[in-house]
Amino acid sequence: MVRDQFFAFTAQKVAPYAHGWHLADELIPLPLIAELGSMGVFGMTIPAAYGGLDMGKLAMCVVSEELSRGWIGVGSLVTRSEIAAELILTGGTDRQKADFLPGIASREILPTAVFAEPDTGSDLGALRTRAHRDGDSWRIHGKSWITHAARADLMTLLVRTDPATRDYSGLSMLLAAKPRGDAAHPSPRRACRGARSACSAIAA
Ligand SMILES: Cc1cc2nc3c(=O)[nH]c(=O)nc-3n(C[C@H](O)[C@H](O)[C@H](O)COP(=O)(O)OP(=O)(O)OC[C@H]3O[C@@H](n4cnc5c(N)ncnc54)[C@H](O)[C@@H]3O)c2cc1C
Repeated sequence: MVRDQFFAFTAQKVAPYAHGWHLADELIPLPLIAELGSMGVFGMTIPAAYGGLDMGKLAMCVVSEELSRGWIGVGSLVTRSEIAAELILTGGTDRQKADFLPGIASREILPTAVFAEPDTGSDLGALRTRAHRDGDSWRIHGKSWITHAARADLMTLLVRTDPATRDYSGLSMLLAAKPRGDAAHPSPRRACRGARSACSAIAA
């Protein structure tokens, strides 16, 4: 049923427009994101207690596959929420779960995954982006390849916090809230300040 529903959705709402969006280098239209949100796509694997559908990874894969049939950008977008939710569920504090999961499930918070680097794809243990403490803040040096970064509200940011390491052992995952951008202003430069939980480490 899920596959049929998203096959039909993609055929009607994504495939006919995807090439045009691509050629115009446009962001995914917000009404499409709103519609996906109302179908529960951003909370598919999030527990019901946090406002998700709790449907499991298989359903998530089927939805990603069907949306990607129309455009990989749309299929990829929904996996950002899945990735962020999984990280917060498995490594986050109760406060971070309460702060972020309901918003991710409802699509109010659009997350993005900031892991891959130009020379580091599958082998994340070789990641070179560094982060160091600067008073109450973290300073991040180096990153790229971020899908849907302009629109995102929350970055799950994989960084090396122990510079003496060269493998997985020195990595941490930071949650970094950011101001949402748009096509005209993709990188608004307001700093990430405010609630401790909005810019905090979930694992070290
Ligand atoms: C649509 C899309 C969206 C993306 N969005 C994001 C994003 O939002 N955030 C982000 O961080 N990254 C993102 N990426 C990047 C993605 O995570 C990387 O492309 C991925 O990790 C693979 O890395 P790579 O392309 O460098 O390939 P490589 O790691 O160089 O792999 C190349 C080939 O070698 C094979 N290979 C690699 N390691 C091994 C091994 N140990 N043994 C055997 N075979 C191996 C792979 O299977 C592959 O066939 C996105 C990629 C795509 C296609």
